[in-house]
Amino acid sequence: MSETNSISGNKGLQIEEKLIFELGNPGCIGVDLPEPGPVDLDRMGGVRKREPFGLPDLSEPQVVRHYTRLSQKNYGIDTGFYPLGSCTMKHNPRLSEKVARLPGLADLHPFQPQKTVQGALEVIDGLAHWLKELTGMPAVAMSPAAGAHGEWCGLMAIRSAHEDKGEGHRRRVLVPESAHGTNPASAAMCGYTVDPIPAKDNGRVDLDALKAKLGPDVACLMLTNPNTCGLFESEIIEIAKAIHGAGAYFYCDGANFNAIVGRVKVADLGIDCMHINLHKTFSTPHGGGGPGAGPTVLSDALADYAPVPYVVHGKNGLELVEGPREGAKPFGRVKGYHGQFGVFVRALAYILSMGSDGLRQASSDAVLNANYLQARLSDVLSASFEGPCMHEALFDDRFLKDSGVTTLDFAKALIDEGYHPMTMYFPLVVHGALLMEPTETESKDTLDQFIAVVRGLAAKAKAGAAEEFKSAPRNTPRRRLDETLAARTPVLRWKAGSNQ
Ligand SMILES: *Cc1c(COP(=O)(O)O)cnc(C)c1O
Repeated sequence: MSETNSISGNKGLQIEEKLIFELGNPGCIGVDLPEPGPVDLDRMGGVRKREPFGLPDLSEPQVVRHYTRLSQKNYGIDTGFYPLGSCTMKHNPRLSEKVARLPGLADLHPFQPQKTVQGALEVIDGLAHWLKELTGMPAVAMSPAAGAHGEWCGLMAIRSAHEDKGEGHRRRVLVPESAHGTNPASAAMCGYTVDPIPAKDNGRVDLDALKAKLGPDVACLMLTNPNTCGLFESEIIEIAKAIHGAGAYFYCDGANFNAIVGRVKVADLGIDCMHINLHKTFSTPHGGGGPGAGPTVLSDALADYAPVPYVVHGKNGLELVEGPREGAKPFGRVKGYHGQFGVFVRALAYILSMGSDGLRQASSDAVLNANYLQARLSDVLSASFEGPCMHEALFDDRFLKDSGVTTLDFAKALIDEGYHPMTMYFPLVVHGALLMEPTETESKDTLDQFIAVVRGLAAKAKAGAAEEFKSAPRNTPRRRLDETLAARTPVLRWKAGSNQ
């Protein structure tokens, strides 16, 4: 429960919110309905309500206030700075939102005849064109619905390519220890075994260790670049050569593409496939469980195996290929319909409104902002690796040594200061990680305010304020939750009398 001295339990104008079921008052009603006329009881084939549904009875203002107050308890990119590393929480231009809401785009139905949706197919085809252009890759599968889904799609293409060559026995996938958890999970879902590769002291893949793991049963390497330590894999060309030399493919996790857009064409790095998180790099509000999109670009070696559907330029305009086609060997389909269309619209609007100079500037500014954070915080926090970073700055918990304060306590104290915490305890390759990604959309003022708070908290921690940190957050509607219990045993249904 929240701890407060007020009579009501409320804190300032923050209302202590009950569940809507607890607010309900039997007999209370929000609308006046006319008395029903004689009811034809047989219209439901004899199925009749036997007991109350258990829905709460409330007035209209009660309902409006309840949901408005709940919405105000959310913290989002529209309310404040959100330095969550790896997730790229950045401002979504309202222009992209406006375009996505145009009725001609928002009100389409996936079953409409193709000749009535030529404009929509042009959006898909136009976005595919720019994704191929920005990566230098010859093909792209547009339908995956998230980054992890794109990983799975790319791995399925790799599996099909190996099977086609009679090399279906390649079942091992190499994954660096710093990888995002979705990488090994996607490989496992494809039926592969996962073999971890260690990092060197400089935070990059250990090329010798990688070479030692290569063999005739390796299907591919999954590498993130820039990696999850915020570092460019400087030996990536050597890595690609080694992988290809062993007859395996090179998968790149492109979630951090926002650090290199307009600067590096991934085709030049020897990559065979890479998913792009449209919702991270190319705008789209995410993080609340909303839709994302993970189009996966493919090299010539994998292009034929791309899943359906895809758009081609046919005799009568644009056509959506939904089945087998001369010369192609699609491994199947990964999603109903045609992909996350609303996200495509936002991404295309973003790309076209930024232009090539704008995209290049966005990735440069993202890297500049992260290096600014790293430079201004390195004397009080402990930066994990020497030298400049890419779009995110990684610190570990050495600066908290002997203070009695943990990374978790530090993050909770940030909440009291009005900031969403950075990513904690990821990547796993450093102890007690604090991963900060400011993105290009934050101003120097915002970063300076954040820096002042982090510096202040670091000073407090070192001055022996462990008790204060342990009891944070104090200013939130709830204090520390049992996150493990909540994840393992979530209570998702309200039951009458359970008081939960
Ligand atoms: C976000 C992320 C993913 C997964 O993407 P989703 O869209 O959340 O499925 C994979 N790898 C990295 C490095 C990421 O940051």
